[in-house]
Amino acid sequence: MSHAIRFHKTGGPEVLSWDPAPDGDPGPGEVRVRHRAVGLNFIDTYHRSGLYPVAALPSGLGLEAAGVIEAVGAGVQGFAAGDRVAYGTGPLGAYRETRVMATDTLVTLPDTIDDTTAAAMMLQGLTAQYLIRRLFPVQPGMTVLVHAAAGGVGLIACQWLRHIGATVIGTVGSSEKAELARAHGCDHPILYRDEDFVARVREITGGRGVPVVYDGVGQDVFEGSLDCLARRGTMVTFGNASGPVPPVSPLTLSDKGSLVLTRPKLMDWVATRDELVAAAEDLFSVVSSGAVRVAVHQTYALRDAAQAHRDLEGRKTTGSTVLLPA
Ligand code: NDP
Repeated sequence: MSHAIRFHKTGGPEVLSWDPAPDGDPGPGEVRVRHRAVGLNFIDTYHRSGLYPVAALPSGLGLEAAGVIEAVGAGVQGFAAGDRVAYGTGPLGAYRETRVMATDTLVTLPDTIDDTTAAAMMLQGLTAQYLIRRLFPVQPGMTVLVHAAAGGVGLIACQWLRHIGATVIGTVGSSEKAELARAHGCDHPILYRDEDFVARVREITGGRGVPVVYDGVGQDVFEGSLDCLARRGTMVTFGNASGPVPPVSPLTLSDKGSLVLTRPKLMDWVATRDELVAAAEDLFSVVSSGAVRVAVHQTYALRDAAQAHRDLEGRKTTGSTVLLPA
């Protein structure tokens, strides 16, 4: 009997339970994937806590995994038994050993990307891809600010930005994280728990500020981030690791220099099959070339997902984290 992590009520990590979950047979248009690695992402904690409401309880959890197709339903095109596949945009319920699912979010993995790497990078890597390549396409020579630079999205973004030829300023929660971020392309790590990051950004940029801030931290840094921007700069608030950002008046954006504010989500940036495939190819290419290395710094047994959540929310993790089915 296979198992899945589910939650029967929202709350802290303790609500996660290891429930029996029958394998099931794929219906028309579906495949059954045997997960070899499952990705842990901060968004999983929002679903678990109730910050992002789920459709119904009990609910599965997780949006990302890699594995091998072991059964194929009628009418499936483009996928066959034995194919190595991965996904990073759900649907919700990736924390399980086997999964019957439609093929619309699946991509075929190249031989250059192993299962653990794939599970570690689909969601965070596709996020870095749309943030720095499409939403605000960073140009060589720009100096940009990335919050939580030693995190999952952060370490991928730092390397990709260096590859593009940008200078990266990154906030981090400890001196160990500063060293790690630096080793992954962050030119100017700032210890934002000790230092005034706004003053440091102004100092580093000669008073001008940065053209873009990528902010997955939210509440604690939002206001300061606006003050880091150059005139007509773009504030990309894409996460809530410290809590959701409160409402903001449009006049604030005017007062601070005609700023652009956007609150994007990955699903809207890989909304069509063509967009998903193109973004995944871009990601696979930069990882296969060695320009971006995916730092899997923590692995846990899938059944120990609650401990992984505790460590992620406790700011104990760096880079990406993968949950391993038995
Ligand atoms: P991370 O690995 O970056 O973990 C979150 C990091 O945030 C922590 O390690 C910590 O780093 C920092 N942090 C700052 N304040 C807090 C706090 N109060 N509690 C916990 N952590 C805090 O996670 P991910 O890479 O998975 O995701 C990064 C962010 O991006 C998340 O907010 C996530 O929701 C968001 N996201 C958004 C997407 C979108 O399309 N909108 C898609 C993917 C991710 P430090 O100690 O260095 O401060």
